[in-house]
Amino acid sequence: MSVASGLDFSPAYGVAEPIASGVRRLTARNGGPLTFRGTNCYLLGDREITVIDPGPDDDAHVEDLLQVAGAPIRRIVLSHDHADHAGAVRRLSQLTGAEVIGAAPDATRPLYRPDRVLSHGDRVETEAGLLGAIATPGHTAGHLCYDLAERELLFSGDHVMAWSTSVVVPPDGSMADYMASLDRIATVGPRTYLPGHGGPVIDGPARVSELKRHRQAREAAILRALDSKGRTVGEIVAAVYIGLDPALAGAAALSVKAHIDWLEERGLVGRDEDRLSRR
Ligand SMILES: [Zn+2]
Repeated sequence: MSVASGLDFSPAYGVAEPIASGVRRLTARNGGPLTFRGTNCYLLGDREITVIDPGPDDDAHVEDLLQVAGAPIRRIVLSHDHADHAGAVRRLSQLTGAEVIGAAPDATRPLYRPDRVLSHGDRVETEAGLLGAIATPGHTAGHLCYDLAERELLFSGDHVMAWSTSVVVPPDGSMADYMASLDRIATVGPRTYLPGHGGPVIDGPARVSELKRHRQAREAAILRALDSKGRTVGEIVAAVYIGLDPALAGAAALSVKAHIDWLEERGLVGRDEDRLSRR
């Protein structure tokens, strides 16, 4: 496998791996088809720790976090409220008294209650420098990335990863927002991204361009599949994903739906009940 694929990532579980001065990474042992080798938790500082995305609610993992921290955990900063990133918040904040800061959880899955909700441009002081919140909706409505200008790093959560594209599932996820958030992140200073899963993205803006091209190609394929007679989402999935593993049909349908929502928002596709056509 080539380095550029991002698939050659093999973390040392149970160990905080140094990434930069005052920045370490602990990968949780929750690897799987959606989480790759596991969720990355980043530890900032040596004397007082800020954890970005504490990871899943799992005994061994929370023990690992406390063990490798080596100093009091003062802050828990969140990119978004999916359980693989934020499941451990409640337990870790109870055990450490750490302040919970970041993305507001969706009302349908209140995994945690933030002490401080961040908006775009808000800053968090850490021992490793100031973290700046970047609103990056798309994967979830409340997703935040964080730049750490002092170390020329950007924590990209599930927005931009090297090993895979982001899952964008409506209604919480939105393709229009996701594409706008790709443009937004590429304009922020740091070029090295540290994602929620997998190894660092060495050239962030180049990866962003690649992700945009991927979505544009998918959209073009969907438009080609739409004839004047109108098609259902199921028919479009069958036309766009040839030879699809039936186990992935549900995920493919959700991704196509996200694209269609965005095409409809732009007036490029219309619908008659469940039949979609080009406009
Ligand atoms: Zn996620």
